[in-house]
Amino acid sequence: MRKVVPKRYWLECADLLIEYEILHKPAVTRRIHLAANPDGSLGVIAPRRMSKRTIHRTLQQRASHVARFLAGAMARQRELPVHRYISGENHLFLGENYPLEVVEQSGKRGSIQLVHGHIRIMATDTGSDVISAKLVKWYRQQALQHFGLRLELISQFAQWTGGEVPAMRLRKMKRTWGSCSAKGVITLNPHLVKAPAKCIDYVIAHELCHLEELNHGKAFYALQEQLFPGWREAKMHLKDRAHVYLHE
Ligand SMILES: [Zn+2]
Repeated sequence: MRKVVPKRYWLECADLLIEYEILHKPAVTRRIHLAANPDGSLGVIAPRRMSKRTIHRTLQQRASHVARFLAGAMARQRELPVHRYISGENHLFLGENYPLEVVEQSGKRGSIQLVHGHIRIMATDTGSDVISAKLVKWYRQQALQHFGLRLELISQFAQWTGGEVPAMRLRKMKRTWGSCSAKGVITLNPHLVKAPAKCIDYVIAHELCHLEELNHGKAFYALQEQLFPGWREAKMHLKDRAHVYLHE
């Protein structure tokens, strides 16, 4: 498949030139969303029907805000650790840091376990690629297990499910923690397993509310308040730490 490279545009802000690309998304209906690309350029996520001219004018009108957003995002990206996947290096799980314990073990099938406050990885090959892949797989397994149990529990408090636990699947997403399809399937981001348990419960509760109320209207928030009263703090925490949890 041919990779489509989005066209780049330029925005002027004082003596600064900001390079940006436009991504039209059908799911985005009203506002423009900003995102920082790893190369320091700006991603502009816009509603499908919004013209390039409107997008450019909107960005240009708020150029100083855009510049501040990009500077902040780049500073956060620079703070992120470069993972080397070696013993002693901390990795997040359910909101806690756990040091890795990488053990070379010849001739046996590898394993990965949470023991004595460590994530212990046994492997015949301890190269960073191998360990990183094992860790990603482990996160996914843990996410399936943990999210599944919590969904089962929290859905019992959501009367509108009629006692049925909705179907759940995992999908890595760049800026979404969860979603709920028209058919009632809840999709959760496996990266969420690095966040505190409370935040995971919040995302699950949020998606469960969408089974009853599709849009973020008054009725939705009333439902969410009832199902998960601590949603504001959890939401804020996730917003604050998203770059850390989404980081591989
Ligand atoms: Zn929602």
